[in-house]
Amino acid sequence: MSVYVTKSFMPPIEEYQKYVEQIFKRGILTNQGPCVSELSEKLSEFLGVKNFHYVTNGTVALQLALHALDIDGEEVITTPFSYVATISSILWQRCTPVFVDIEPNNFTIDANKIEEAVTPKTKAVMAVHVFGYACDTDKIQEIADKYHLKVIYDGAHAFGSIYKGKSLLSYGDISTCSFHATKLFHTIEGGGIIVKEKNVSDKLELQKRFGHNGDNHFCLGINAKQSEFHAAMGLANFGFIQKCISERKRVSDLYDKELSGFVQRPKLQKNLEYNYAYYPVIFKNESELLRVFKALEKADIFARRYFYPSLNKLPYLLNGRCEISEDICSRIACLPLYPDLTDEKVSEICQILKEEI
Ligand SMILES: *Cc1c(COP(=O)(O)O)cnc(C)c1O
Repeated sequence: MSVYVTKSFMPPIEEYQKYVEQIFKRGILTNQGPCVSELSEKLSEFLGVKNFHYVTNGTVALQLALHALDIDGEEVITTPFSYVATISSILWQRCTPVFVDIEPNNFTIDANKIEEAVTPKTKAVMAVHVFGYACDTDKIQEIADKYHLKVIYDGAHAFGSIYKGKSLLSYGDISTCSFHATKLFHTIEGGGIIVKEKNVSDKLELQKRFGHNGDNHFCLGINAKQSEFHAAMGLANFGFIQKCISERKRVSDLYDKELSGFVQRPKLQKNLEYNYAYYPVIFKNESELLRVFKALEKADIFARRYFYPSLNKLPYLLNGRCEISEDICSRIACLPLYPDLTDEKVSEICQILKEEI
């Protein structure tokens, strides 16, 4: 059987069926139904956050975050090392992304380089807790306070990571996350938004459902409401979160043991309890990466180039140089990592990799 970089977690089918039967009995399919409410409460409690919104996906979550904070057409300082959705949400709001290069240690935006990118048009910083590693939240908040900027964290990978004793998703004016099928915790498609201020959260609540309440129309809105069937998958998966994290840790620890000295690995903050969402490795150069990929493919194993290219190199963007990000993007890859990946398979992957290095 082919091995891919990730595999969606599937709960026991009876767990899902249980909720689907209730949905069929009630006949309520969407519009903040009972499953959506129950899952929202559970997630909010699990994360230890207030003002949590469950929405259709992690991309719309970012768009709503920008919109709810009135960021519209201005400059947004961001990172070139992420999935394309970070940038597309900024562009979709007709804002201008301004790239700041990344930390070589953990690939998050280099907070020490943010200040020199601030201009009178800067309205916000959108940083990414890439792979579930923590951005320098203290330093970013300090700069935001000094220049009156909003802080949005794309926490698509951050679910389950704990930083300085609280969820990594509890930082900034708004944090978002993704519950897409490939993510650590999923609801097939889905996303979450955590808002610091109650009044912004109330506004976002309206904006995510067309901006109206009954016949009273308050503001411009969009449809980001999630369905009961998606929430049911979330409820079925909810009880397996800790198991998913500990199984991922098992695989990661095994990679660590077998690959130490062969590939370069990120250095994580001391006060981060990591969620083991990804297992990125850095090769010496791109040709070594391509050689390893080819050898793995022969064994029906598919790693992924997360992330490539550096987003400042997108053809519809071409936006300056980010030397560290471009260098890392040319030689970083994520190895297969998911709960039921066997020790034997991990050893096989490591063996192939070591032979090519
Ligand atoms: C997956 C992802 C998103 C988008 O989430 P969707 O739920 O797929 O829309 C945004 N940012 C990052 C960094 C991601 O990995």
